[in-house]
Amino acid sequence: MLSLYSALLAQHSRQLTPVRCAEPTIVQLHRYFEDVVLENNLAALVVESLLPEAQRSLRDVARVREVGRLARYAFFFAAPEDGLCAVDLSDGSEREPILLNKPDGCESYERFVVIADARFSALMASVRTEDEEGQEAAGDEVIWSFEPDIVYSALEYLMARVTAEQPDRAHLFSKAVRTCVPKTTSLQLTVSVTTKLARLLQEQAVREIAVNRISTAIRSTLELPSVLQTTVNEVGRALGAESSALNIEGEHGQASLTKFYFRDGADEEDAGAELLSDLEALGVRLRGRIKSYVHDGCINADESDACPMAAVPVIYHDRTMGVLMVTSDDPQRLWQENEVMLLRTVADQVAVAVNHARLFQQMQHQALTDGLTGCFNRRFFEIQLERDLHLATRMRQPVSLILLDIDYFKRVNDTHGHDAGDAALRILANALREEVRGVDTAARYGGEEFAIILPQAGHEGAKVVAERLRSRIERTEVPGVGCITASLGVATFPNDASSRELLVTSADRALFLAKRTGRNRVCSTEDLPPEDIFSPPYEPVLPARETSEVYNGLPSEAPADVQESCNPS
Ligand code: GH3
Ligand code: MG
Ligand code: MG
Repeated sequence: MLSLYSALLAQHSRQLTPVRCAEPTIVQLHRYFEDVVLENNLAALVVESLLPEAQRSLRDVARVREVGRLARYAFFFAAPEDGLCAVDLSDGSEREPILLNKPDGCESYERFVVIADARFSALMASVRTEDEEGQEAAGDEVIWSFEPDIVYSALEYLMARVTAEQPDRAHLFSKAVRTCVPKTTSLQLTVSVTTKLARLLQEQAVREIAVNRISTAIRSTLELPSVLQTTVNEVGRALGAESSALNIEGEHGQASLTKFYFRDGADEEDAGAELLSDLEALGVRLRGRIKSYVHDGCINADESDACPMAAVPVIYHDRTMGVLMVTSDDPQRLWQENEVMLLRTVADQVAVAVNHARLFQQMQHQALTDGLTGCFNRRFFEIQLERDLHLATRMRQPVSLILLDIDYFKRVNDTHGHDAGDAALRILANALREEVRGVDTAARYGGEEFAIILPQAGHEGAKVVAERLRSRIERTEVPGVGCITASLGVATFPNDASSRELLVTSADRALFLAKRTGRNRVCSTEDLPPEDIFSPPYEPVLPARETSEVYNGLPSEAPADVQESCNPS
């Protein structure tokens, strides 16, 4: 059988315009229509159809009873499995609700409420629709009207339905319709509902705009901290919250990431610490598959009561990865279903965004590291050298470069096999990483050659590091191969070379000299014959401030220790 929604739309297509509403909005709309009867003691005919629910809350049952008590006739269509069918709806009052059987079928997803009497007529009806791929679309299509003609059409249709499906109830139903024929509709009552309706729809629109803005903002960046900060700021503002917080657990042993929003710019340290402990406690609760945690305010809240808050888990592929929460400083704040839904929608988008950001990070990492040794690769080396030279120029500090090449490595491969050669490269790379400082960069320059950038290191210091590396390699045992040795060349910016290219060439010449003069040794530009030295020696032409402009297209994050050491105070 056709749903009431479809029947009315077919018959009154020009007067009815379907509107798509989210589930909580429809629930709220339903209540607003019932409120007209309840708040005005309207002795009207009320016919409702509810979505089937196996368990009915006491609140649901009390409301059905209340409508039944105040309305002149109240009919509720309910499916046999509905929890309503299992409760006694009579409460001893003169009037009580009458349940009508709602057979299984396509109209089981319909909802409606029809109100009719000589003074007032109103109806709303909705159905759940499916999109082209057969998925349930988010939200239902709703129509509503206060036109007596349309309400009468609805009653005629329902009468036909009751007659066909439940002949034993047909007599009572048609008597109710005859008694309560909709004739006019009260302007005052209509306005009372439409005002609430307009507000509800406006709120829904504001939230939809907020969600759109949040998703656009989230999609516009792949930087995880920025994604999280944008989310808390937008959520906090959209819900008028006092604060909001979002925590995302770290992956592979990394620390978790938490971002806060404070409406009044509270002291992040104090307020943040408090929110953090709330987040941790909520994280534990929400892990148990609870979709949300809502703590409403109450009328006579006192200072000691916990502030109203709402929280939802951030879930990706069934794995809880974090918590999104909002708090209010209004002790009577009630979190609407719509608002909790906004949190859930945003949390879903955050989950996807976090995953994208992590994949991006992984790809970035892979693009800049060498697969065999785990060292930075040549590409990263070039970027980092440019960066370090830029900083050094600005700070008027040196940068040294060491180029390292394994001695007779071809023999290692030929004698022990390529796999043993690979193992030697990995062991050497680990040794390099252990020997250098946090600000230094060890990279695989190519084949069996490595490059080490030493920011702030002068020539003498770099030679000491190079010698330490040489000696460490010489002492390192490669299983199945024995010990290997390497030759190293050292050059320093700006003394030996005024540009990136010249610095690399100088270090390369020094390395070549180390090979030529016996291998397993360190040579520096000082050891080069005069014809191999670049002259004239480097002289900065521009004052430091202007020199930095030469590099102004490059990123310029100075490591913290560089900034400190160059701080004039
Ligand atoms: P020299 O002391 O003059 O540097 O001698 P060498 O044998 O190290 O020099 P050469 O440049 O002739 O050989 C480098 C060798 O490094 C050749 C190549 O087989 C080996 N090699 C380069 N990349 C890899 C790698 O990824 N794995 C392995 N196992 N060997 C590599
Ligand atoms: Mg080589
Ligand atoms: Mg070699």
